[in-house]
Amino acid sequence: EKRRWSSILGADLQDLAPATVFDQILAKALPSQVVFENDKVLAFRDIAPQAPVHILVIPKRRAGLTALRKASREQKGVLGEMMVAVAEIVRQENIEGGYRVIVNDGEEAGQSVHHLHMHILAGRPLAWPPG
Ligand code: 5GP
Repeated sequence: EKRRWSSILGADLQDLAPATVFDQILAKALPSQVVFENDKVLAFRDIAPQAPVHILVIPKRRAGLTALRKASREQKGVLGEMMVAVAEIVRQENIEGGYRVIVNDGEEAGQSVHHLHMHILAGRPLAWPPG
């Protein structure tokens, strides 16, 4: 039944959660400082940086990935692309000396945008454990 509807409606309409500010960034309706882009992934500087380097890495097609906990095995391709993008960005930004990758999942973890994203933080000492 699910497959029948998705073939009728198109895969993107499986993602029924409300659009987010990241859709506007992806559509270039909202400006952002892009640091990395390929067909699967976009990375741009956070508007409220929590460290000298603060970059967000997002899948271009949210496709139900409102949060990491929604991930399914069919999405392992784009999830892998996001990790490889992190490595490329780290080399590009010259932050190999130390950085942190964070995924806030859920309200209690401080997630505010419901489109999967990884934060890359660097450029200052990063305390452990994080707050
Ligand atoms: P979360 O709190 O969901 O883990 O992270 C969302 C991040 O998106 C926050 O760090 C926030 O500063 C960032 N953000 C929210 N709106 C915008 C925007 O319009 N532009 C950019 N570049 N970042 C944004």
